[in-house]
Amino acid sequence: MKKQICLGIESTAHTFGCGIVSFDGEILANERAVYTSQEGMIPDVVREHHKTHADKVINDALQKSEISWKEISLIRFSQGPGLAPSLVVGKDKAIELAKKHNKPLIGINHCVAHLTIGNLVTGFKDPVYLYVSGVNTQVIALENKKFRVFGETLDIGLGNALDKFGRTANLGFPAGPKIEELAKKGKYIEFPYSVKGMDVSFSGIMTKAQQLIKKEKVEDLCYSFQETSFSMLCEIAERALAYTNKKELLLIGGVAANKRLNEMLNLMCEARNVEYKPVPIQYTGDQGAMIAWQGILEFKAGRKDNLNVDIKPHERTDDVEVIW
Ligand code: AMP
Ligand code: MG
Repeated sequence: MKKQICLGIESTAHTFGCGIVSFDGEILANERAVYTSQEGMIPDVVREHHKTHADKVINDALQKSEISWKEISLIRFSQGPGLAPSLVVGKDKAIELAKKHNKPLIGINHCVAHLTIGNLVTGFKDPVYLYVSGVNTQVIALENKKFRVFGETLDIGLGNALDKFGRTANLGFPAGPKIEELAKKGKYIEFPYSVKGMDVSFSGIMTKAQQLIKKEKVEDLCYSFQETSFSMLCEIAERALAYTNKKELLLIGGVAANKRLNEMLNLMCEARNVEYKPVPIQYTGDQGAMIAWQGILEFKAGRKDNLNVDIKPHERTDDVEVIW
């Protein structure tokens, strides 16, 4: 039988991505164009970036996978949550292509796709997820057919907190990788450690780091920012593992690229006899393969296609029923 294939489009934030994935989970292409700038994300500029790069990214993915439109069975796109002006570009492109090539189309929840691509590429079955991206910081686990959010940030996501501090310190955008580098040469200054039950808050750390820019060495600020915020994440992840009794911890989202965070989580898991894995670096950030794979899971579970799709900028992870 001919292999069935799904094309997934991602455009929730800074990345316009296109992934091509077979129904048995082989990732055939995963192309993307990522918007970066010194100023952070200006919605109109990001929208124009995505519009400019959309066709090339999609064509590159098709070429790389050596798949023609005839062989694509489904088109899926990121419906939310995200930045409305970015989401609209992906939605419009997906509708245009679905109509042009006569393919079934549905929208996919971006956050859920981050979780399920993690399972696909690590082989984990039922982990506790620590999801640390630009906008999101959440501890999630599957319970009663929904991905439940056990704990989350009460203010901003850790990635955004790092980026905002980075902007004040002139480290460029995104600042996470630069902060990781500088932190290697830093020493500890006390920062506000803020865990409230299962939730965390980063605005205190961010404000303190910004206030101290002129007084302290940037390396020390980077180090202290990381040590404090990462310890907070270890604490809530450990508590979620204890509560759910799950035996796997999966780190996902862009901040998963950080080696120090990986080291700390690994130590915590070793002590608890839990298997720890980060999502491999090429799947940590936003990309289209995860949208395609989530589309395949939902399709196999019988989700119906719908061309009248709109964006859902505020859809939460636990809004989605896990039917697959
Ligand atoms: P995402 O929203 O999942 O695409 O993740 C993007 C976020 O990850 C940005 O806020 C980046 O600053 C952050 N990030 C990327 N690499 C690193 C790193 N090595 N250390 C810390 N944060 C990072
Ligand atoms: Mg994301």
